[in-house]
Amino acid sequence: MDFAAWRAQARAFLRAGVAPHDVAWDASLPFALPQTQMNTEVPRVPRALVALLELVACYDDPNRWALMYRVLWRATRGGKPRLLEDEADPDVRRLNLMAKAIAKDVHRMHAFVRFREGRDADGAPLYAAWFEPQHDVLAKAAPFFVERLREARWLIVTPRGAARWDGARLEVRSTPPDEAADLHDPVEDLWRTYYAAVFNPARLNARRLAQEMPRHFRANLPEARDIPTLVAAAGPRVQAMQGATVAPPHWSAKVVPEAKPVDALQNCRRCPLWQRATQAVCGAGPEHAALMLVGEQPGDEEDLRGAPFVGPAGKVLDQALAAARIPRDTLYLTNAVKHFKWEPRGKRRVHRTPAQREVDECADWLYRELHQVKPKVVVAMGATASYALTGAKTPIGSLRGASLPHRSGAALVVTYHPAAVLRADDGGKAFYRALCEDLEQAARLAV
Ligand code: URA
Repeated sequence: MDFAAWRAQARAFLRAGVAPHDVAWDASLPFALPQTQMNTEVPRVPRALVALLELVACYDDPNRWALMYRVLWRATRGGKPRLLEDEADPDVRRLNLMAKAIAKDVHRMHAFVRFREGRDADGAPLYAAWFEPQHDVLAKAAPFFVERLREARWLIVTPRGAARWDGARLEVRSTPPDEAADLHDPVEDLWRTYYAAVFNPARLNARRLAQEMPRHFRANLPEARDIPTLVAAAGPRVQAMQGATVAPPHWSAKVVPEAKPVDALQNCRRCPLWQRATQAVCGAGPEHAALMLVGEQPGDEEDLRGAPFVGPAGKVLDQALAAARIPRDTLYLTNAVKHFKWEPRGKRRVHRTPAQREVDECADWLYRELHQVKPKVVVAMGATASYALTGAKTPIGSLRGASLPHRSGAALVVTYHPAAVLRADDGGKAFYRALCEDLEQAARLAV
C-alpha cells in the first residue's frame, strides 16, 4: 500500500464514520466497509496534517497506517482539529519522531548515494547506484539527483524499487528495474585514493564518524572499504607526526618575520568579536609593573583610540586611583577581552557583555600579559575579569576584601568594575567606596 491508496481508503472510512478501533489495517487492499455506513461528507483535514501523514507513510513500520488513521480520525471526527499543536500527545509525538526519521533518511540518501558509470543493455552510458534506505524514501529523495545530474542518464535501485532519469523525465517505480547495468567504474579507485589522501588522522573523531556514516550505509560507499584501515592506523600516524621534526626551509627566516605580540593580537581571529571592532586594544603600562588591573573589555572610546580605560569608566577609575594614591602611570592596565563587543542602537554602539566562550578564547592573551609583566598583585575589576582570572562565576561581594593566591604567582584582589558606579541608580556611592578601598588594599600588597 502507498500513501495514495491509504488516503483513498481512509477517506472512505471517514465518510462512513468507521472508528479507528473498527479497522484492522494491513497492506492487502481492498478493504470492505462495514454495513453501518453513514455516508456523510468527508470532514476538512488540515493541510499540515496531510503533509505530515504523507511523510510518515514512508516510515518502515506496518503499524503506521493504523496510527495515521487514528490521528486523522481524532483531528476530524474526534473534534480535535488542533491536535497537531499538542506536542505532548503520544500519537503526535510518535508521528513527529517518525517524520524526523524520514527527513534524516532522505538526507542520508542525498549524502551516501554513489553512482558508478556503466552502460545499459543497449550499451549507452548510464550512471547507476544501489542504495538501501531505512524507509521508503526513494520518491522523496530522487528529485534532488535530478537537480544534480540533469545532463546524465541515471538509475537508483533500492530494495523497494527504482528511480530512473532519462534526461527529461523522472520515473519512480515500486518494483526493481528490468535492466542490468555493468557497474565497474574505473574512477572509483581514484576516488578511494583521494579519500585516503585527505583523511587526516589527527582530526579523527570515531564517534562522530560512526554517527555521520552509520555502518548500515557503508556497504555501498567505495571509500568505506578503506575506513577501518585508516582508523586503525590513525593513532600511530599521529604519534609519528608529533615525533617528526621538520626543518624549516632555508629561506623561511628571510620570508617569514617573527610576528610581534601586538601584531599577533591584532590578527586574532579566535572568536568573531574582531569583525565588528575597530582594533584589538592591548594592555598598557610599564613592562614590569607591580600592580596589574584587569577590566572587562574596551568600550566605545577605547575601541576607537586603541587604549584601555580612556572613556567614561576610565574617568571613574582615574578618580578612584587618585583617592587610593596610585599614580596611573605605575600600573599595567588591561582587559579580559581585547575586542569591543557591541550592537547598534540608532547611531550608537551599545556595549554587550562578552559571552563565556569569548572570555575563554581571549584568556590566552591575558595569561601572556601576566607571564610577561609578572605583577605582584593583579586586580580583577568586575565579573568578567573575575571569571577570566579565577575560572569561576563567584559573586564579587563574596570575593572582595581578601587577597587570593593566583596561579600566576600574583596576589589576586577582586573588586567592582568602575562602570558599576556609573550604572547604579543611587549614584554608585557604595560601589565607588568599595573600589577605592580595594585599590588601596592592592597598592599595599604591591609594595
Ligand atoms: N571598561 C573596561 O572594562 N575596560 C575598558 O578599557 C573600558 C571600559
